[in-house]
Amino acid sequence: MSQSPKNPLSAKLPVPAEPRPSREEAERAVHTLLQWAGDDPDREGLRDTPARVARAYEDWFSGYAEDPEEFLSRTFEEVEGYDDMIVLKDIRFESHCEHHLAPIIGRAHVGYLPNNKVVGISKLARVVEAYARRLQVQEKMNAQIAHCIQKVLEPKGVAVVIEAVHQCMTTRGVHKTGVTMVTSSMHGEFRKNPLKRREFLSVIGNPSSSMDG
Ligand SMILES: [Zn+2]
Repeated sequence: MSQSPKNPLSAKLPVPAEPRPSREEAERAVHTLLQWAGDDPDREGLRDTPARVARAYEDWFSGYAEDPEEFLSRTFEEVEGYDDMIVLKDIRFESHCEHHLAPIIGRAHVGYLPNNKVVGISKLARVVEAYARRLQVQEKMNAQIAHCIQKVLEPKGVAVVIEAVHQCMTTRGVHKTGVTMVTSSMHGEFRKNPLKRREFLSVIGNPSSSMDG
């Protein structure tokens, strides 16, 4: 995949047009939404909700403060010539769809074919986490994870498969439950070599059967 200079997958975030609002402003916005939903934001049960929502946002969207490329910067080269596939499967994540702010719950499977450089396996999970804790669409998140690993580790191949349930689809709109979206990004050997790709897919198991739903 060739990269244009204005790469939408870059780990660098777009510069916001306006400065970050204060926590007070954020809480006021939640207050307005509660009112708009039809409730009384000043009743006892809802009084602390704007503050709770603001704190929850800090957790759900903590990925904006992280640089996933940095997680991969410390590598090991002493792997006794190990040059076969390394796979971390079933990395559970929680994200939010950027269209409805509804949860996206799923698992990512990440594999790469090292080119001398190997990372601590937990670092792959941290990369998934950093991108998940942002507003996302599944296809974009999938491509961002693969691109980040490709860019920093420069492996012979990268494979990323994501299976997820989108609550904007299960709890509203078409109300389709039990529907899992599966996306994949394959780079290098995993794209060129069907045998390697098949090996990866068999290691992660049949993507559509490993979800809780
Ligand atoms: Zn959505």
